[in-house]
Amino acid sequence: MNDELKEIVKILETEKTICLLAPSFPVDFSFPDIILDLRAMGFSKVLELTYAAKLINYRYIEILKENPNGQYICGNCPTIVKMVQNKYPEHKDKIIDVASPMVVMSRFVKREFGEDYKVVFVGPCFAKKQEAKENFECVDFALTFKELCEVYCYLEENKKIKNIPETKENREFDKFYNDITKIYPLGGGVAESMLNKQVLQKDEIIVCDGPETLERAIKDLEEFKKFRFVDILFCKGGCLGGPGIINKDTIENKTQKLMEYKDKSRYYQPDGNYGKFIHAFGLDIKRK
Ligand code: SF4
Repeated sequence: MNDELKEIVKILETEKTICLLAPSFPVDFSFPDIILDLRAMGFSKVLELTYAAKLINYRYIEILKENPNGQYICGNCPTIVKMVQNKYPEHKDKIIDVASPMVVMSRFVKREFGEDYKVVFVGPCFAKKQEAKENFECVDFALTFKELCEVYCYLEENKKIKNIPETKENREFDKFYNDITKIYPLGGGVAESMLNKQVLQKDEIIVCDGPETLERAIKDLEEFKKFRFVDILFCKGGCLGGPGIINKDTIENKTQKLMEYKDKSRYYQPDGNYGKFIHAFGLDIKRK
């Protein structure tokens, strides 16, 4: 086990910890069992990122309304952000000035639950590790799903998995979730979750995924001023194709799993939307 994972084991034993699960988690883990398993590992609180995605969507919509002639590039994927900054610096101001779901949710939970909690993001992405370092004041660690399993196995082998009662509360997220943004990790998921707000028309959006698509998207932005928003993710298939995902199934089957989770979660969390905007009142969600 590497030093970072050893550090995770240590904080699980000695600190108050919050696990933030990326919305692609249903591709690798069963819901709601994963929540119980994370508590058994020692996490004090378990949340998903969908509430942050809701806050981000709202801000995106405000920015697009305020700037009807502006062109924007979604800033959720740290690899795309770096590529635009390095390869197309003349377009870097188009990266929308809103932090990623990992950063927004981390700022929120530190404010909501206390600065003394250690925040551990778990997702499909290696690039999040660097993004976490750049936002160290709110994100303490960023692990992949594969690494989470490695930590679990270590704890199990060393008989450190706790016995957690299977109560309703222990099988539910610690509040703050949102149904609509559960599709965020899909290619085009951000744009789709905004379309019903009628601030963007379909033909004003460029949706693409895969490393080779950025060049085309930039050219289209330059050539056609009608394009107002680029919803782009670096990995083919969006975050469901991320390198830290264990499941090697097709993107179609992974998408199916995500949609099944979206339906199933309503049974456990029937309101579908715990987390009002007022909870995040005054929270800074800009990029650093
Ligand atoms: S698309 Fe890939 S690189 Fe970008 S955030 Fe998702 S997993 Fe990370």
